[in-house]
Amino acid sequence: GPRVGILALQGDVREHARALEACGATAVPVRRPGELAAVEGLIIPGGESTTIDKLTRIFGMRDPLLERIAAGLPVYGSCAGMIMLADEIADPARDLDGNPQQTLGGLDITVRRNAFGRQVDSFETELEFQGLAPEGGAETPLHAVFIRAPWVERVGVGVQVLATVRAPGTLAPAAPNPGQTGGQTARIDPEVRAVAVRSQHLLATSFHPEVTGERRIHELFIRMIRGEA
Ligand code: GLN
Repeated sequence: GPRVGILALQGDVREHARALEACGATAVPVRRPGELAAVEGLIIPGGESTTIDKLTRIFGMRDPLLERIAAGLPVYGSCAGMIMLADEIADPARDLDGNPQQTLGGLDITVRRNAFGRQVDSFETELEFQGLAPEGGAETPLHAVFIRAPWVERVGVGVQVLATVRAPGTLAPAAPNPGQTGGQTARIDPEVRAVAVRSQHLLATSFHPEVTGERRIHELFIRMIRGEA
């Protein structure tokens, strides 16, 4: 199978490695530019996006990652990995100097971190997920585990929403996106939040398929790497 890297600076690297191997791929931890250069796809795992952001710069990985993402490397981000792929964070963490955390970007979406709130720190639900079944096959619901998860409040044109949840009623509306120039913004129904999105070679989920034995998301990503999805 394809050689798929897992960005191994922080987060649940081993769980993704197990899921990839179960799908017939070769999982490779990636910490250095040379390791990144040798993979056909990359997973950014769940963990803590502020830490992953800092470590990408400390390890000299930020520019190599930006270059390969821009060049079309297939990348799948789960949870903190989704945040790293987002062009915009509605509520970024700030360091002591007031500088906001950075993302790698590539996906024209706005995410909100820890969006489901303290009372529902972590939860599990069944999702309807678009495009997992083979041609003509029936979709069975996907059991999804959310752990201090982000959700997607805005998707740009060309970003497909693959799965959604109903938003709790207490939320502030999505922040406007001052950085965005040109094009249209497809604001999603305010009652609904996206928890899985795809744009061309980039795939992101708010939840963690790697912790449940669910393999269909990793299979989809491998099909993307092969150019079959
Ligand atoms: N809340 C974390 C963050 O902001 C993400 C949590 C996770 O990856 N399970 O990075």
